[in-house]
Amino acid sequence: MSQPQFHKTRIAPTPSGFLHLGNALSFALTAAIAERSGAKILLRIDDLDRERVNREYVQDIFDTLNFLQIHWHEGPRNYEDYERDWSQTHRLDLYNEALKQLRDKGKVFACSCSRAAIKRASTDDSYPGTCLHKSIDLDAPDSSWRLITEADAKVDIRTYPEDIIETRLPANMRYFVVRKKDDYPAYQLSSIIDDLHFGVDLIVRGQDLWASTIAQEYLAQQMGLDAFGQITFYHHPLLMETGGLKLSKSAGSTSIKYLRDHGHSAMDVYGMIGRMAGIQREVKDWQELGKALLE
Ligand SMILES: [Zn+2]
Repeated sequence: MSQPQFHKTRIAPTPSGFLHLGNALSFALTAAIAERSGAKILLRIDDLDRERVNREYVQDIFDTLNFLQIHWHEGPRNYEDYERDWSQTHRLDLYNEALKQLRDKGKVFACSCSRAAIKRASTDDSYPGTCLHKSIDLDAPDSSWRLITEADAKVDIRTYPEDIIETRLPANMRYFVVRKKDDYPAYQLSSIIDDLHFGVDLIVRGQDLWASTIAQEYLAQQMGLDAFGQITFYHHPLLMETGGLKLSKSAGSTSIKYLRDHGHSAMDVYGMIGRMAGIQREVKDWQELGKALLE
């Protein structure tokens, strides 16, 4: 099979906890696919969740990538670099311009529901459209902006290496949030704007973000950002803890920092990931992990 070629992919962690084995798998696969498709790697630190971001977690991103011997071509090299030039807070004008366009086109409504209220009103985790016809002022304090979505909207997703999947906006993405209650753009919006801004044409992420991918593709359509439809996605399986639990940033002993601090080498860590991913032979670096999982 011939390898499709790409210009740029990205590693886009959130500094809201210490990175864990699942993040490492994602970075390793990004590096492996980038290498075989000629793509450069951008490091983007998704830091708009302002309450949870802290310096230690940002530093952990650099430490982890260096430890795992994953190189990136563009983006911050250290904390000072990140803060000075690369934080998403430097791109708020871009996000706000996109939000203004959605507002001007009448594509959003304000929602003042609390998380608990949504939980009570919903039967399946989806937002039931409680505020859709309430005409709450978009400038009202303590309200988020939600996108007006059509039920069953069709979305096409380009997938790696080369396929197109026709799908629909899932129920849990109905009226999804594009601006949070703290007035910062929501992840779905900032991610699209950044990927287009930096010229990303390949995105590698976990399967848990499949619904987000559909939401982002749909939102890009609504904003007339056709270029986003040209991006190719690879959704990789997630690592599970024994017992089938999804790894989380609160799970201390699977954090890369914990393993580093306890004397494990990068080779040990790749070996653990390989075993958790069900690979029979021993893997010792991201190149071998990529080979085992992609071929
Ligand atoms: Zn609401």
